[in-house]
Amino acid sequence: MKAIINLDQLVTCIHTTSKAKRGPEMNDVGVISNGAIIIDDGFIRGVGSTYSLQKTIDKIPKENIIDGRGKIVIPGFVDSHTHAIFAGTREKEFAMRLQGKPYMEILLAGGGILNSRKTLMESSDKEIIEQTRARFDRMIAFGTTSVEVKSGYGLSTEQEIRSLELLKVLSESHVIDVQKTFLGAHAVPPEYKDSKSDYVSLVCNEMIPIIASKKLAKYCDVFCEKGVFNVNDTERIFETAIANGLELRLHSDEIESLGGTELACALGARSVDHLIAITNNGLKALEKCETIANLLPGTSYSLMKSYAPAREMINRGIALSLSTDCNPGSCYTESMPMIISLACLNMKLTPAEALNAATFNGACSLGIQDRVGSLEMGKEADLLLLDMQSYEAIPYHFGINPVLKTMKYGKWID
Ligand SMILES: [Zn+2]
Repeated sequence: MKAIINLDQLVTCIHTTSKAKRGPEMNDVGVISNGAIIIDDGFIRGVGSTYSLQKTIDKIPKENIIDGRGKIVIPGFVDSHTHAIFAGTREKEFAMRLQGKPYMEILLAGGGILNSRKTLMESSDKEIIEQTRARFDRMIAFGTTSVEVKSGYGLSTEQEIRSLELLKVLSESHVIDVQKTFLGAHAVPPEYKDSKSDYVSLVCNEMIPIIASKKLAKYCDVFCEKGVFNVNDTERIFETAIANGLELRLHSDEIESLGGTELACALGARSVDHLIAITNNGLKALEKCETIANLLPGTSYSLMKSYAPAREMINRGIALSLSTDCNPGSCYTESMPMIISLACLNMKLTPAEALNAATFNGACSLGIQDRVGSLEMGKEADLLLLDMQSYEAIPYHFGINPVLKTMKYGKWID
């Protein structure tokens, strides 16, 4: 048994139900002053004030107790939208963007996703694994204990399956909890430029059945955007995904609204992601369903674009989560503290709303909230010891890593 005691704040992010927090609920992070947490065998065995847990603390050997004076503990971050399995980086395109070239123009000129596709194909399994493992290490260092990762740089049956199989190898050998998503419909490969529906057929008739039967992914995602996959393509892919037992997530309304959000809500998707260009109809659809609006302010920041209307979403009672979108093109960061800061400064979330979105609601969007995402009795001990006296300092003291130590499943990760 071990314990952390005398914490300035134990921030639980606890919720009364296992549904995502919405509206005013998002502003409550469940702070316990002079807090303590007791951990045994990977699980949380006690949460409360140091005073209330004193009898149990007295039974724990001194060397297993950390004095948390001047520090806080929060749940490990749940990063529910990344493309973290890729090879090579694209800082040259970043420099082009700084000179004003739009992302879609870079994509159509063979850059963007297609550039990463080429590098992935040319890289060995070992290279891809090593580079991705380094990203997972950085995520753990910055406090992410659960991460969703999408395929989508393969864009062929062989390479999509390869990406997901490598991800499986990584998830079995790395401490971070990996949730896998199939994103074969990330871009239209150039060889299908004039026959996009044939590529959609390949995704539906070949890729999804194999991936589902091999259990290589839990979710299916589509990049629903003008010039890429439209609502009809998305519907075809989603219907196939549902028939094969996959859950849905969607890249939607990032640049233009096509109606993808409304479709995803109607089909019971776990999340719709980006939503910078969401319409009133999209907002109305989200109000009425349990689909979570997964916002990615790092992408707006890195692409120097506008931000999703987060305040309006919260006012309408829509559940929000926050993620990095970690990818080699539009947003290369593993830092959830950075994302929380951007969400507060550019989308006007309160520090509490942003923290709930980055923990409990992220876990809800992945359907893992019964295990992780908040600090409560019986849950897995995924938590962070932060070098600050209040959770409000996370967005305030930006550009640094506030995480002193990350605990995953009851063990401190060095
Ligand atoms: Zn994405």
